[in-house]
Amino acid sequence: MHIHGLQKLAMVDYPGKLAATVFTGGCDLRCPFCHNALLVTRLAETPEIPEREVLDFLSSRKGLLDGVVLTGGEPLLQPDAAEFLQAVRELGFAVKLDTNGCHPAALAEILEAGLADYVAMDVKNSRARYAETVGVPGFDLSPVEESVRLLRESGVDCEFRTTLVRELHRPEDLDDIAVWLEGAPKYFLQNFVDSGNLIGRGYHGFSPEELRAFADRVRPHFGCVALRGVE
Ligand code: SF4
Repeated sequence: MHIHGLQKLAMVDYPGKLAATVFTGGCDLRCPFCHNALLVTRLAETPEIPEREVLDFLSSRKGLLDGVVLTGGEPLLQPDAAEFLQAVRELGFAVKLDTNGCHPAALAEILEAGLADYVAMDVKNSRARYAETVGVPGFDLSPVEESVRLLRESGVDCEFRTTLVRELHRPEDLDDIAVWLEGAPKYFLQNFVDSGNLIGRGYHGFSPEELRAFADRVRPHFGCVALRGVE
């Protein structure tokens, strides 16, 4: 595992749990609004943390933390992600996995082995605007569609989520996502925030009123729709 970040106490990354968050390095997408360029396009500037060190830290937090979040970058790019989660499991932690959905075979392995208690999958935009939104010309959406299918059929607690960017998302794009994910139990909308560490530039979020309008628009299609990071 190429681990390039460890947040030792995360209050909000894992719904309802006190967690540590482990950040893997590298991603196969280039979302221009990505707020974590240091884990994607500027990885060489971010020191790697030995996996043993991370597992030793987690071991020292047994009984103090409830869970571990594995995020990135894209964690399923790591060929040994399942082995890492197995080790985390053996320490007694609940596991949340964040993924961009590009690696359905790795996701299936983890789901089938019962190595994730909760999965949060990004759905970046409508199918027509996906390539533009992930910064990969000619992007093949089929792995993402397969991951959506796998997650929905797995029975594992999961959410789909979209970060809304003024320059990339129109109300019609949300309509397409709603039809695509129709009936999914949980869908979260997050506002774009400029971290100052983006892959691209010139992106903006929406006002709280605009975000609420987006949520109202898609609400009939999901079990639950909620906004994150909105007062
Ligand atoms: S926002 Fe896009 S580029 Fe950044 S880590 Fe997530 S999937 Fe990768």
